[in-house]
This record gives sequence, structure tokens and C-alpha cells, in this order.
Amino acid sequence: MAKARVGLYAVHGEELSRTHKSCPKCGPGIFLAEHENRRSCGRCGYSESKSAPLPKAKPAKAAEPKASPPRPSAPAAPSAPKG
Ligand SMILES: [Zn+2]
Repeated sequence: MAKARVGLYAVHGEELSRTHKSCPKCGPGIFLAEHENRRSCGRCGYSESKSAPLPKAKPAKAAEPKASPPRPSAPAAPSAPKG
């Protein structure tokens, strides 16, 4: 049942290391982990924010529908016809 997923990524050693920045504290050889908007070193804990954060397209928020006011409850008329 379990499928071995090997070979999903073709890593060309040097090419991969190029995308990662080396830690300024630990020096070359220790690369920073890439996060969405920052990098961090798993060795010394150094972290830095990326200079150019990805511009996120935020959908314009539509006007919210107004909540209907509470309806005044109708006066309960005593229904007890005699006759
Ligand atoms: Zn480090």
C-alpha cells in the first residue's frame, strides 16, 4: 500500500544551495531556512526578514450586509372567545 516516493525532486546540489543564503553568523556552509517572508538559521537561531516581501493581492472586501434589527414581537392577544 505504501508507495515510496523517491525522485520527486531533482536536486542539482549547487543549484539548490544558490537559492539559500548562508548564515552571516555561522558563515558559508550553513544555510538559512527559507520561509515565506524571512530566513532563519537552524544552527544559531539567526533570523532575518526578506527585503522584498511578496506583494499579496488582497481581494477588496465587499460591503457587509446589514444585520436586520430585531423584530418587535407582536402583542399576544388573548384568544378566548366565549360563546
Ligand atoms: Zn547561524
